[in-house]
Amino acid sequence: MEAEGQKSILITGGFGFIGSHLVEMLLRKPENRIHVVDSMVTSPIDLESYLQQLKGSERLSYDLCTVREFFAKPKISRFDEIYHLASVVGPVGVLKHSGIILRNMVGDTYDLIDYCLDHGTKLCDISTSEVYGGGRDGYCCENDSMIIPPKISVRLEYAVSKLACEVATVNTCRTSNLNAKIVRPFNVAGPRQATAGGFVLPRFIKQALAQEPLTVYGQGKSVRAFTDVRDIADGIVRTMCCGRSGEAYNIGNPANKTTILDLAQRVVQITGSKSEISFVDPKVLWGPLFEEANDKYPDADRAINELGWRPKAGLDRIIRESVEYIRAERCD
Ligand code: UDP
Repeated sequence: MEAEGQKSILITGGFGFIGSHLVEMLLRKPENRIHVVDSMVTSPIDLESYLQQLKGSERLSYDLCTVREFFAKPKISRFDEIYHLASVVGPVGVLKHSGIILRNMVGDTYDLIDYCLDHGTKLCDISTSEVYGGGRDGYCCENDSMIIPPKISVRLEYAVSKLACEVATVNTCRTSNLNAKIVRPFNVAGPRQATAGGFVLPRFIKQALAQEPLTVYGQGKSVRAFTDVRDIADGIVRTMCCGRSGEAYNIGNPANKTTILDLAQRVVQITGSKSEISFVDPKVLWGPLFEEANDKYPDADRAINELGWRPKAGLDRIIRESVEYIRAERCD
């Protein structure tokens, strides 16, 4: 029996990079009980030690399976809220899923929508800033058009799959009593991010700590706005709480807008490394399916004005804390 005032929350992908921080944040409220569904395929955490240090872990339960397997179970308890984060990730990580990304993502989304409609559950869908297709020379505002580039790539499949899920969710909100909001995160970074998906900051840090050259793609002119994972988790919780149903919110820190060459130089300086910067062609590293994204940085006014979201971590702090995490990990 649930005590009065308790909130039952499902987090798909709750043991992923963003998910694990979201779980920690939500468990700080004693009324929250959390159930995680995670297949652990791309999880960066060691589950046993994560659970050991987790405050409030007695209010956490989990199923290690896919979203599809979870919803195929004969009996699922009732959740008040669902945060949907389970997804393939990373510019390199997505490559091996070429051709099946859309089916899996859309399938998961419909399972979630059906469940939410049946149980009166609120949904927060974690989409991506890639839906903009680069926006206006990188500037991405929620009211802008989305741009579909002329070349079909795995990255495009990822972006249009996320967009298809958004459209299905928003239109269901309009034709039913579904209460759902969408988050579009911009370049999430910080402690626990793994190199496996190909993400730039942990790659540069590991290269710098090993005194190896930093692999800057092209000339390093790409523009990104790196956003601390805990600021992202805070934005997600605020979107669930206070966002308008059927609306999308950019969660990204415009103050951290930078070029990749600048990021590489900061990493070298902060780590005190002797590494050089080497300019490389990513297709040589990852094969012909690899595709670079357009520049992207957010207009975050909607989240700031409507949700009271205030990103706290500047770029150097994100780098420093990521360095500390990776250093500690290397000592294990
Ligand atoms: N990048 C790079 N070297 C690397 C990995 C990434 O120069 O070893 C660049 C990449 O081309 C992109 C930026 O860093 O311009 C951010 O890459 P990431 O994969 O982290 O995110 P995304 O491209 O999906 O925004």
